[in-house]
Amino acid sequence: MALAGGLAPRGRAGAQAPEELKLEQIKSDLYMLTGSGGNMAVLTTDEGVILVDDKFDRNVTEILAKVRTLTDKPVRYVLTTHHHGDHTGGNPRLLGSVEIIAHENARANMVKGSQPGLPRVAFSDGAAVYLGGKEVRTRYYGRGHTNGDVAVYYPAHRLVHLGDLLVEGTPFIDYANGGSGVAWTATLEQTLPLDFDTVIPGHGPVMKRQDLVNWIASFKTVRERIARMLREKRPKAEILTALKVDDLAGWKPNQFWTKSSLPGLIDELSR
Ligand SMILES: [Zn+2]
Repeated sequence: MALAGGLAPRGRAGAQAPEELKLEQIKSDLYMLTGSGGNMAVLTTDEGVILVDDKFDRNVTEILAKVRTLTDKPVRYVLTTHHHGDHTGGNPRLLGSVEIIAHENARANMVKGSQPGLPRVAFSDGAAVYLGGKEVRTRYYGRGHTNGDVAVYYPAHRLVHLGDLLVEGTPFIDYANGGSGVAWTATLEQTLPLDFDTVIPGHGPVMKRQDLVNWIASFKTVRERIARMLREKRPKAEILTALKVDDLAGWKPNQFWTKSSLPGLIDELSR
């Protein structure tokens, strides 16, 4: 999600309340860390730990404590899914001892937004981290949630972490940071040739490959319905209320969808 004007992202509403993070074992050495901000992944190896994302600044102490329940090895890398503050907020406190790796557009969005904790390593197409005999790949497939989202792939685990390119409910299209509801599905479809059965979304519970396939199909159906109404010259205000989404798999509208993403998607499809 994102810190969009006037819209409180999930997990931010109770900012003052302590948030208990939860470790969920997904594979023998691979865990999901939930409870605040974006879903993190934690991979343990004999040479150290590879994280995906690092939630908010206020979560760092508990993140490291949770990692310590799994291994006495240090965190060595953070692979960033995208620039939003609920996925990169821990960067400033981790950068002293951890290499943080992001897509160049995600880093540029952090610069633009004056976010602290800029990654020292950025890439254009993809990168791989090899640690303790294990391999994690991060790859850019195109625009979607923003213009700097990646898929993080664990080939031996047959698992992919998609950040906010896949969330429980409806997509948040961050148009201010290069997001696109038109490009989004093609971006996701490029991950399907990868061999995986398990998906960690940016927010929400662990999913299966079929959940991703269904979500892509729902997204396409939404676009087709909007495009049809635009061809019928129906005004935007009417489309906003007339669009039917309650029959779509995995599609549960939230405030991001109704107040921001849907109006933006109608505009994008009108161009
Ligand atoms: Zn996000």
